Amino acid sequence: METFINIAHTQADLKQEKYTCVDLVQHYMKQIKERASLNAFLEVYEAAALVRAQTLDEKLARGESLGKLFGVVIGIKDVICVKEHRVSAASKILGDFESLFSATAVERLLAEDAIVIGRLNCDEFAMGSTNENSAFGPTRNAYDEQKVPGGSSGASAVAVQAGLCMAALGSDTGGSVRQPASFCDVIGVKPTYGRISRHGLIAYASSFDQIGPLTKSIADAALLLEVMAGKDDFDSTALQEEVPAYSQQLHFGRKAKIAYVKEVMEHPGLDAEIRANTMQFLEDLQEQGHELTAVTFPYLSYLVPTYYILTTAEASSNLARYDGVQYGYRDEEAQDMEMTYRASRTAGFGAEVKRRIMLGTFVLSAGYYDAYYSKAQKARRLILEATSAILDAYDFIVTPTTPTTAFDLGDSKYQDPIAMYLADIYTVQANLVGMPAVSLPLFQHSNGMPYGLQLMANRYEEASLLAFAQHLMEK
Ligand code: GLN
Repeated sequence: METFINIAHTQADLKQEKYTCVDLVQHYMKQIKERASLNAFLEVYEAAALVRAQTLDEKLARGESLGKLFGVVIGIKDVICVKEHRVSAASKILGDFESLFSATAVERLLAEDAIVIGRLNCDEFAMGSTNENSAFGPTRNAYDEQKVPGGSSGASAVAVQAGLCMAALGSDTGGSVRQPASFCDVIGVKPTYGRISRHGLIAYASSFDQIGPLTKSIADAALLLEVMAGKDDFDSTALQEEVPAYSQQLHFGRKAKIAYVKEVMEHPGLDAEIRANTMQFLEDLQEQGHELTAVTFPYLSYLVPTYYILTTAEASSNLARYDGVQYGYRDEEAQDMEMTYRASRTAGFGAEVKRRIMLGTFVLSAGYYDAYYSKAQKARRLILEATSAILDAYDFIVTPTTPTTAFDLGDSKYQDPIAMYLADIYTVQANLVGMPAVSLPLFQHSNGMPYGLQLMANRYEEASLLAFAQHLMEK
């Protein structure tokens, strides 16, 4: 089977009977086995995916009308529920818990004839930037197996990068779709907060979390987004607005007003080559007639602290439900309720998850609530106002997605959690303000690793965001 190009191409081949859905699934299962060292899939739904492919082949043979995602083989980050399959959030605490229902996003993919091939590794409860926080071992970057793929949706990026499936779902609370996309040379989209229902997404920080697609092309990302998006009775934060047909609106027929943030480009943590190439890229755009303006954003150094105070607070509350009683893993030795909680959570959660639960509990505690949690809420408001002011005047804010390329596995510099958190500096803003952003695989560093360009747009502006992204990918 030839290398995957895009969904439309594969669907044309399927309709011309060049191969079948069963062939496709078998092809991807073979690729997954051959690249087992990447440790991308936690589970492949071998039997279920083949049965599904067979059903779809029969549907085609009967001449029935086919869904928009007919034959699309998709991998799902292991924080998104698929009915009657295990879901673990890459944690031991969920034990062998099996989901009773599918996430709304997954239901919608299936309703359009997609095939879910399995669940993908990630950082435990989506907390991390390297995939090393998984209880099931790190995923490796297919560019260089000694490098991390990023996180927390690292394996979702690797699965697309290495051709283990056609597209993947990730979740993005502070960059977890875009940062691994940048490290792995694929496209990653974080929609407007609420664009895709969170029903069936295991919660990390509920006012930040969004599901997003990782793909090889903008057309595929647009198609997946339009299928998954839209109101949902199971999630009252899901946007009520009609969902535009993004995949039909990918022509950007005008000049863009682009802002870049001076403080971002001058940041001492930004790799010099990434800085120079991003600036060069922006100046080229200006030469082509797009308007380029340097703006100031006074809160850059507040983004990461605000993000980590609020997300850990929300996480400490969301993760309280894993108590050894309701779900998954329970310590069998414990004699009473208190010990059951304590022993189950001690053994079930990894170090980073524990750190965040403790941080979050601390910032919410009576004596510190005003000093941290409520102050961070105020900071979030100021960040929103300043970001909105820029995006009311300009179409897009452009930044590098990440200040560096992929780290080495086990890099000692990042054993310090603060150093690791600071690497999220460019991605957390979109989640703090609920705005959509994409990472585009446009660059290769002289160190051999890829890195991305991030575009952020105003709320609800995915259509122009994706159209401009498409324009840049064609450039
Ligand atoms: N790296 C960020 C964190 O560790 C982002 C995580 C995410 O988006 N899920 O919180």
